[in-house]
Amino acid sequence: MDTLKHFTLASVTLLASTPPKLLSGPLSATFASASGFPELQFFFQPDGQPSLNFDLRITQLFRLGEFQSLCVSEGSETIKEKTYSKGITIQFKEEEESSSFHGAFDLWKSEVIIQGSTLPNGTISSSKSKFEDKIEASSAKMYFHYYGQLLHQQNMLQDYVRTGSYYAAVMENQADFSGRVVVDVGAGSGILSLFAAQAGAKHVYAVEASEMADYAQKLIAGNPILGQRITVIKGKVEEVELPEKADILISEPMGTLLVNERMLESYVIARDRFLVPNGKMFPTVGRIHMAPFSDEYLYVEIANKSLFWQQQNYYGVDLTALHGTAFQGYFSQPVVDAFDPRLLVAPAASHVINFSTIKEEDLYEIDIPLKFTASVGTRIHGLACWFDVLFNGSAVQRWLTTAPGAPTTHWYQLRCVLSQPIYVMPGQEITGHLHMIAHSAQSYTINLTMSAKMWGPGAEQGGILQTSSCRLDLKEPYYRMSQPQAYSVAQDQQPNQLLQSQDLQLPSLDEDGLDFIQQPLSKFVGPSVIHDVTLYEAP
Ligand code: SAH
Repeated sequence: MDTLKHFTLASVTLLASTPPKLLSGPLSATFASASGFPELQFFFQPDGQPSLNFDLRITQLFRLGEFQSLCVSEGSETIKEKTYSKGITIQFKEEEESSSFHGAFDLWKSEVIIQGSTLPNGTISSSKSKFEDKIEASSAKMYFHYYGQLLHQQNMLQDYVRTGSYYAAVMENQADFSGRVVVDVGAGSGILSLFAAQAGAKHVYAVEASEMADYAQKLIAGNPILGQRITVIKGKVEEVELPEKADILISEPMGTLLVNERMLESYVIARDRFLVPNGKMFPTVGRIHMAPFSDEYLYVEIANKSLFWQQQNYYGVDLTALHGTAFQGYFSQPVVDAFDPRLLVAPAASHVINFSTIKEEDLYEIDIPLKFTASVGTRIHGLACWFDVLFNGSAVQRWLTTAPGAPTTHWYQLRCVLSQPIYVMPGQEITGHLHMIAHSAQSYTINLTMSAKMWGPGAEQGGILQTSSCRLDLKEPYYRMSQPQAYSVAQDQQPNQLLQSQDLQLPSLDEDGLDFIQQPLSKFVGPSVIHDVTLYEAP
């Protein structure tokens, strides 16, 4: 959490002084929880002693502008038996610093809420697991309820690109499994444990936290030859104890954009708890790939969603006051669908995450600097992202990819759409940042900034940038799969043939409805999202 702890501020204004007192920088601020509850401490003196403390349980932070924020603590100063609120304005040097400060504030504050509800005296319990320390109980409950249902496991099993790649990676590298102790991290139905047993594992520990553990036990008992070498353990990898160390871990911890669900952290914790030094991990490495895209249709579709709020006479009510909020709301949803790779307008960049070496804490905040060269003159509507993972077997190295144009998986691809598109000329450089901060609802807040140098007067001086940025919640994506798919022919399942061969009749479904059913649903789609697609998106 250290990267989310210390911040440098340009200046601070103490609002309670008359007149307000300006302290100019460099000043610093630190988030801490040494007193048993999270605090924000400001340091104004060089002596290293905090000059002003805010108890985050009663503090709010407001953005006054790109570089300026207001920090107010409710009724915390008691002077002459009267209680006053405490407030300061904070001036940041740059917008990015301001964004990460706000991200850190939200994260530290949400941690308090969890701790506050479970620990009335506010002390931090060391008996809680790493999982419970950072994940909101309500989020975890929904998450494991979802994976406890067979239909969602079936959905992943029916993603043949995914399951087939795992099967091939294991079978091509039998030497890595044969005679070895294996831990299946988040075993679900137990399928990967059964693959490992097929490859000759000496013993497999299948660790699964949801109710699915009971079904995995049943499935494994139904395959007794393999099953006698598998032990199902119901519990979180952060909490269970195993009788021996593993030579190899196998897991499928990838969510949308690789990191959604925050299960990579559990995979890394399992590595530190169960794997022998220099043991293998299947998968070994993950990469996030990013490229700017141009998609006028998608942009207009999203912008139009908020048109509803432009009505001035909705049953006699003027709705326009909420138009801006609705507009921003739609642009804060990352779009999940399979898109045509021809929409990409620059060669992709990538960010590598090595599961064998990364520290768990390094997944709390991921900051990826962006630099692209536009291949064409166009209007850029945002950043397209996808990922792949490598099984670094001793015999064969195999990649599982979710790239656009490759056979579609249940992860599809993800696009962050800018509410303000940017214009580029061929050969022009596009820079920016993709900044992701983990939150306690098992997902990330994404801050995307993209900039291009402006053309025309003043451009020779080089300094004028068109910059566009947006903040998105990876937990609330817009599933756009009810749209016709450009790449359905490339799939191994050919929907119409499949229907004919099985002589299925679905007369009540129109084309879009059918499309939705045949596409595998993306992993961990919360119930509200399924609602959205079926009730609100299908025509
Ligand atoms: N391995 C299965 C399931 C993958 S889905 C397959 O490949 O088909 C991920 C699974 O990990 C879910 O069943 C989920 O309940 C489980 N899981 C997620 N976090 C976990 C944790 N911290 N401890 C144990 N299981 C976890």
